[in-house]
Amino acid sequence: MMLKNHLGETFELKVIKYHFNLNEIKIKQFNSDWLDVKIEIRKDIGTISKSIECFLTEDLDRIMDWINGFENNTSKKRLYFLDTNLVFMRIKRSFITFVKVVYFINDKDFISWDFEINKENVFEFKNKIQQYIKLFPCRCGMLHNYSKGNY
Ligand SMILES: [Zn+2]
Repeated sequence: MMLKNHLGETFELKVIKYHFNLNEIKIKQFNSDWLDVKIEIRKDIGTISKSIECFLTEDLDRIMDWINGFENNTSKKRLYFLDTNLVFMRIKRSFITFVKVVYFINDKDFISWDFEINKENVFEFKNKIQQYIKLFPCRCGMLHNYSKGNY
């Protein structure tokens, strides 16, 4: 999924494959839903490309729920992942709502990317996530009852 903001900067969340082939899996829960994911943020200062650890198929659903919650203002301010270096934030700047994707390189340094939330952008964002949800469904067969937007 590649998204462009008003500055021409891009953010890509790329689901490459399931981490394990089905025949390699002994314990179904977690392992069968584990995805190999990379993010790439491209700005004028350069490009950062990072692998996201322990990203699960349900994280795609969590991102989707989070974006859906923007419409009625129910999204949490921050969406956390098992890879604690990655955080999605909902921020407001002079009446405009942004999604801020933050990736912590170490304790003090991070790279971030802002994406204005408007109808067009939300449609685009949801569209891309939806494509990944279809391509990489849950394979464990368990009911995922994560509390929305929270770990
Ligand atoms: Zn599952």
